[in-house]
Amino acid sequence: MHTVTAHTNRAPAETTGLRGNFRLERISVDVHVNHREAGVFTLGSLAPPSPARPWSPTTGPDPAGSVPGELSIKYVGRSDHDLRSEIAEHIGRYDAFQFEFYPNDVAAFEKECRLYHSFGGPDGKLDNPSHPPRPERFPRMSCPVCGAG
Ligand SMILES: [Zn+2]
Repeated sequence: MHTVTAHTNRAPAETTGLRGNFRLERISVDVHVNHREAGVFTLGSLAPPSPARPWSPTTGPDPAGSVPGELSIKYVGRSDHDLRSEIAEHIGRYDAFQFEFYPNDVAAFEKECRLYHSFGGPDGKLDNPSHPPRPERFPRMSCPVCGAG
């Protein structure tokens, strides 16, 4: 099991603490998001890593493998119990995703909140229509960043 270390998230990809980038396609979701558990994900568009090593959807390596480049994050989400199904609902809307499982809904909610604030959700820089919702089991939890709730 991947170990998650706590740190702040100021930039895409390398610093989100999530796995990826993976193409937002059925095969990739099925292969990588291989548990129905609580977790967090980001969605967005991919920029090539550099002009010297261009990446394109048609010449990329394994369709289920990770792809290089920086994810321009446009959406932050989570699931309290079935991350795979939640990510799959967004297929077709974005190029790629990152994700990580968390041991429970509370940990996933806190991570989602940190990503939401780090990537400018409150300033309208994400497609999220609103602040991350609290876990169903803990409707009175407050956001660890802004205290909402
Ligand atoms: Zn908040």
